[in-house]
Amino acid sequence: MDMKQISHWINGKVSTETSGRKGDVYNPATGQVTATVEFASTEQVGKIVDVATAAFNEWRHSSLTKRTQVLFAFRELLNQNKVKIAEMITAEHGKVLSDAQGEVTRGLEVVEFACGIPHLLKGGYSEGVSTDVDVYSIRQPLGPVAIISPFNFPAMVPMWFFPIALACGNSVVVKPSEKDPSAIMLIAELLKEAGLPDGVFNVVHGDKEAVDALLVHPGIKSISFVGSTPIAKYVYETGTQAGKRVQALGGAKNHMVVLPDADLDLAADSAVNAGFGSAGERCMAISMLVAVEPVADKLIPKIKERMEKIKTGDGTKGCDMGPLVTKAHRDKVASYIEAGVKEGATLVMDGRQVKPDENGFWLGPTLFDNLKTSMSIYTDEIFGPVLGVIRVNSYDEALKLVNDHKYGNGTAIFTNDGGAARRYQNEVEVGMVGINVPIPVPMAYYSFGGWKSSLFGDSHAHGTEGVHFFTRGKVVTSRWLDPSHGGINLGFPTNN
Ligand code: NAD
Repeated sequence: MDMKQISHWINGKVSTETSGRKGDVYNPATGQVTATVEFASTEQVGKIVDVATAAFNEWRHSSLTKRTQVLFAFRELLNQNKVKIAEMITAEHGKVLSDAQGEVTRGLEVVEFACGIPHLLKGGYSEGVSTDVDVYSIRQPLGPVAIISPFNFPAMVPMWFFPIALACGNSVVVKPSEKDPSAIMLIAELLKEAGLPDGVFNVVHGDKEAVDALLVHPGIKSISFVGSTPIAKYVYETGTQAGKRVQALGGAKNHMVVLPDADLDLAADSAVNAGFGSAGERCMAISMLVAVEPVADKLIPKIKERMEKIKTGDGTKGCDMGPLVTKAHRDKVASYIEAGVKEGATLVMDGRQVKPDENGFWLGPTLFDNLKTSMSIYTDEIFGPVLGVIRVNSYDEALKLVNDHKYGNGTAIFTNDGGAARRYQNEVEVGMVGINVPIPVPMAYYSFGGWKSSLFGDSHAHGTEGVHFFTRGKVVTSRWLDPSHGGINLGFPTNN
């Protein structure tokens, strides 16, 4: 059987050009290569930007009615194809089908938010700031914008950005992760079917060469990046140096603080769902549990009991947790487990022996106790099914831990004391906070993003910050003299 070939989506169709460089795409549950994906050259990226520039010059003049009609139609198509997109995600990412469907739903909510763009783009108007003078504001699109996305949400993360970018009148170039490039191709087809003119939405596949070309191309006006912190920082620095507007969302190490008065069954359920859902490959995964004593000895057995019930296996076969995305990533996460043991943490449950099938990039749920802040399993983002417990003696100690960590994406507190929760939401230096909720899921109409090393730039994703990011403000001061100054005669016209 011929291997599936995945290539760029340019001007409303799949490109037939090749740079001669390609990457392999795997099914992580079987370990088999299932497709190859083109890696664009700098020259190919240039051609795509030319296409996006020409399309922008038309699209920016399309009416708000036209743009919202396309988005409403796209929403219907996305809904109809939810399962198909989810299956593509599971086949290349490994997450279980229900999780993959949830990801599409979250993206769909941003499309729904963007359908309200006529309201969101309304400007202000001040009549009579001086004699015959009015002032008003308008927001205009930037031009071709680039979206560079990570492997862990191949559908949702691009949809954090492009529905709003398109609704605001921009054209788009998406550079998806080379590890799971299929879902965005179906999404591109659906946008065309929904009536989006060719060239307004393009997909360029590739690696560092394609990213670097987008970062410096003068035709690209903004960069929305999501990925690991070192690359986010590089993208932010390179893109802003090239004069672009950049929002670069990075990695995470999300702490869940459990106070002694918390409902421990709720806390255990939440820690297990948020720690091991999507095999911990989520930027909002809980990877660190801060047990405020004497909570740990009661909470850890509850967590362990739940972890023992997690069925690891092929995401299409009704399991709870799928494989990791690649062999290299699986081995990296496993090496952190080894490091944790060497550094002196207590290994309560070891996922390294879990192997539901012969092949596939498997790693079962893993739990550490007695972490210290100096350990690499505490300082680093592991991005796998590894949950660590660190014991502290007070709320203040817990707060200091969270605030001292370099990442600040998400955090949660579990308590029955509203005052304690209220103090935490005020004092914690993290962008997104859950109260008796483990991972605050992205809500389309609020903006999503972290603090500290979890985000470079000033704008979070979607919500009103997304609308601002994808538009430039303009203020117009206009003077129209009264007709008595020599304009037309406003008297009633005579009948003869
Ligand atoms: P990654 O940084 O390896 O890759 C992200 C994108 O950058 C991909 O498109 C990739 O092709 C490209 N890239 C990789 N190396 C590059 C280089 N040297 N130069 C230029 N471009 C390069 O991230 P990943 O492994 O795909 O995704 C996982 C990471 O993303 C985790 O750190 C996770 O926390 C983070 N993430 C963050 C959020 C958030 O909202 N903050 C959301 C999802 C994922």
